[in-house]
Amino acid sequence: MRLILLGPPGSGKGTQAQRLVHKHGIVQLSTGEMLRAAVAAGTPIGLQAKEIMANGGLVPDEVVVGIIADRIEEPDAKKGFILDGFPRTVPQAEALDELLRKKHLKLDAVVELRVNESALLARVEKRAEETRARGEDVRLDDTPEVLTKRLAQYRSLTEPLIHYYSERRKLLTVDGMMTIEHVTREINRILGALGALGEEEQVKPAKKASKGARKTAKVAGKPAKKPAKVAKKAASPARKAAKAASKAKVAKKPAKKAARGASARKGAKATKKVAKKLTKKRAKR
Ligand code: ADP
Repeated sequence: MRLILLGPPGSGKGTQAQRLVHKHGIVQLSTGEMLRAAVAAGTPIGLQAKEIMANGGLVPDEVVVGIIADRIEEPDAKKGFILDGFPRTVPQAEALDELLRKKHLKLDAVVELRVNESALLARVEKRAEETRARGEDVRLDDTPEVLTKRLAQYRSLTEPLIHYYSERRKLLTVDGMMTIEHVTREINRILGALGALGEEEQVKPAKKASKGARKTAKVAGKPAKKPAKVAKKAASPARKAAKAASKAKVAKKPAKKAARGASARKGAKATKKVAKKLTKKRAKR
């Protein structure tokens, strides 16, 4: 299984990636982790990335594409992988498509974790506090100021990937505001409904797809060759729910797009407000 996890900083990509790794025996490829390791080791890439990362910028596309191209060649990535933090720009996504095409590998799905921006600063602040409590070093870019910048980068450079993968019928959107456990269950359920998991990995469909599940499993598209199979097996409630959700999303698309623009603007405002609050809180400490 080859997956991409897409979502802003603090959306839970890392947490969910680890859970998927555990369950499906595939590797997590996090460009953020790899770059942090390169910085710590003082390699040429690390030296190049250090400042950029500390300021919340993006490392050049060719650098991260190079890292991923090498990494997916490793034997442990043969069974499958979850990309976390990559691709982050449309050129990175195009480079990945090309890489996979050359290797005759298929991308199963892109899971977007959708969250309210106003919750992200608090989540990242909590992560920093927990790291501090464990006596570990807090990430240099986990400050309200840098996070605001990382979020702005996400909106302008990474969010277009939602459209990119939706057009290619690879996008699955999950409500990332649910509990960690719920998000994991939802991801496994929709991957199962898509047939992205091997037979032995299939999650048993819920007896009756709950209203909540129907609401959150917004399957924007199915991998190109799957519809016939999915339609045939549509007897299971999970598949029915996925199908219904898929139709609903297509129908509502234009309205949603407008709503997304409005909510992004609102999110940006809220983010600034929370960032200010957190900076004040810090100053007091
Ligand atoms: P986040 O919590 O923001 O998702 P990550 O650990 O994925 O953080 O990434 C941390 C930093 O590493 C980013 O802000 C960026 O500077 C750099 N980085 C990670 N992945 C990429 C990428 N695919 N392209 C460019 N820069 C990246």
